[in-house]
Amino acid sequence: MPVKIFDAHCDVLCKLLLDPGLDFAHECSLLDVTLPKMLESGIGTQNFAIYLPEDLAGQFDLVLKSIELFHERILSNGQLRFIRTKDDLRLAAENKQIGALLSLEGVDALQGNMTYLRTLFYLGVRSVGITWNHANWAADGVMEPRKSGFTAKGLHLIRECNRLGLILDVSHLAEKGFWELHELSAKPYIASHSNAYTVRPHPRNLRDDQIAAIIRTGGVIGITFVPPFVHATEPVAMEKLLPHIDHICSLGGRRHLGLGSDFDGIKEWIVGLEHAGNYQRFVELLQKHYSEDDVEHLVYKNWNHFYTNHLPENE
Ligand SMILES: [Zn+2]
Repeated sequence: MPVKIFDAHCDVLCKLLLDPGLDFAHECSLLDVTLPKMLESGIGTQNFAIYLPEDLAGQFDLVLKSIELFHERILSNGQLRFIRTKDDLRLAAENKQIGALLSLEGVDALQGNMTYLRTLFYLGVRSVGITWNHANWAADGVMEPRKSGFTAKGLHLIRECNRLGLILDVSHLAEKGFWELHELSAKPYIASHSNAYTVRPHPRNLRDDQIAAIIRTGGVIGITFVPPFVHATEPVAMEKLLPHIDHICSLGGRRHLGLGSDFDGIKEWIVGLEHAGNYQRFVELLQKHYSEDDVEHLVYKNWNHFYTNHLPENE
């Protein structure tokens, strides 16, 4: 029996948006995440991010198009169940279906309009990454040279997400904005796909005080498989993920760690972890280093507990 997997970030929706010819339901070598690969590797829950490339980032109609594709190309397969509530999460597990969460990566397309935000919540989006790498109307991303924090409208967005029950995601957010969000947010927040800066100093990774803050407030950090965020020189072996895990655990994160692969958002891969069909290889490696209980928490239960606690009760 494969160990159940919960992955908090993939970008397959973006690939489907840009190339409608790609097939999620059948084996497709151009996609890291496909239904056959997910079934092969025992995925229990997958978070699907709505991400628009920078030249299209402001177009709300393409966010809606991504949701249309999510329904028509992904959920249309009976093996998946859309996760909007605590009940959905439970029912997916009971019926041995793959749970499918929907998230937004970068709020550019909302154009500061809270009606757009609320509409996405009503359509089932359950977490919101504030930025991609650069600045938008709400805040600066980690690659924006001025490294500023939130705008007034961006601060309003945090409050509105809190009020609705939309989970805030700090991956990609510049450090100043991170601390502003930490101060303002009344709810735990997540880093869906980021590693430890102390292990691999890269702007996309989290400093120790950020990791400690996420842990203290009850959030979860998704270890990501993006080779340059894992190790300085490529090719990157799977073993290089272990120091990130050990480091976050040393800061008290044993029950605040999960996976956030970034599959289909990457153009280079960790050796042996080239697509979503390979998770059990990683599980085997983890089992050599950690207890069975810790492995299960790391690859599934920590995210599952978090979402069980923070998804809406019902529609
Ligand atoms: Zn990303």
